Amino acid sequence: MINHLRHPEPPPSLARRKAYDGCDVREQLYGDGRGKCYLCEARVELGGFEIDHLEVQHEDPDNRRYDWRNLYCICRSCNLRRRKNTPPGGWLRPEDGPEGRLIQEIKSDEKATLFFCSRSADDREATNTAGELQRLHAEPSAKTHDLRDAIVTRLQWVQQAEKDLLEAEMSPDSENPDAVVRRREWLRTLVSRDAPFTALIRSRVSHRYRDLLD
Ligand SMILES: [Zn+2]
Repeated sequence: MINHLRHPEPPPSLARRKAYDGCDVREQLYGDGRGKCYLCEARVELGGFEIDHLEVQHEDPDNRRYDWRNLYCICRSCNLRRRKNTPPGGWLRPEDGPEGRLIQEIKSDEKATLFFCSRSADDREATNTAGELQRLHAEPSAKTHDLRDAIVTRLQWVQQAEKDLLEAEMSPDSENPDAVVRRREWLRTLVSRDAPFTALIRSRVSHRYRDLLD
């Protein structure tokens, strides 16, 4: 789950309660959500993502349909598969610091064993959300298989970028003096919060390069 940003004011069409999927809403959600699905962190397209009501509409249709703080950028796969009723204790909101309340890790490289849990057993919102994330990433289906493949590929990019940077640092090339700078910037881009799957991948960045994490 991403650390979602949230513009303080709702977009105009939402404030007028005309529609929850106007162009202004979509553009603001896309920016605040860093262009990613808030649950699985897959990259989405501005014209192709869906809008999720975290507290689903049939539970409180009058109040939450046009509630700016209830809307999130979500991919089609997660929107189809995510649980639509709110569990007792509620969900963790992605702008309320999921990194401080959730453990999100990749346990092994090859099989991409993904692990989600709450940092505190007393935190019901985080416990509920971790269970849902675990299900969305690990239930046996073609969707989760493809998602894990994409996460592994991204992790391999990061590991290769670390390897290339270390090599450049250890063996400076006088004919290529910018190599270290360029490779550091490439690694910084790959592990940025704006990149896909980084809530998970950040746990695997080596201590040597943790200063590159934003
Ligand atoms: Zn998703």
